Amino acid sequence: MAEAAYDTDNIFAKILRGEIPSHRVYEDEAVIAFMDVMPQGPGHTLVVPKAPSRNLLDADPSTFGPLFTVVQKVALAVKEAFGADGVTVMQFNEPASGQTVYHLHVHVIPRFDDIPLKPHTGGMEKPEILAGNAEKIRTALGN
Ligand code: 5GP
Repeated sequence: MAEAAYDTDNIFAKILRGEIPSHRVYEDEAVIAFMDVMPQGPGHTLVVPKAPSRNLLDADPSTFGPLFTVVQKVALAVKEAFGADGVTVMQFNEPASGQTVYHLHVHVIPRFDDIPLKPHTGGMEKPEILAGNAEKIRTALGN
């Protein structure tokens, strides 16, 4: 079945245009990273290329180098910022896979021995907690 076209009004496109707020931790010419509002664990960060695509399946391959360079930077930063034992990196494509926002993004989640992930798109986190976690990650990133 053909997939739907990219919707320029998806929530991450609005965040990229600055039309809705986010707790940003990183930005360069090709990529931004901000806190997930329904974190699956403390420090759950989303890394988002600025180039429009629904997901990995329709993305221009030139997107991936800059995107995964930042995924690695953020993974190292969240590991340091939260004293994590490991880092989960996840990415979903189309509804059958669990994708809910249709602009390519990569989840970066600090992990701790024997602590399971919370459910995907579970409860909303308090803005002040997200702000504090974003500050820790920015510090670890050196910005
Ligand atoms: P997906 O299911 O598409 O892989 O992940 C979308 C993610 O975006 C979910 O983890 C969800 O919690 C998060 N999310 C949904 N709406 C917003 C929002 O308005 N702002 C932020 N920062 N994250 C969101």
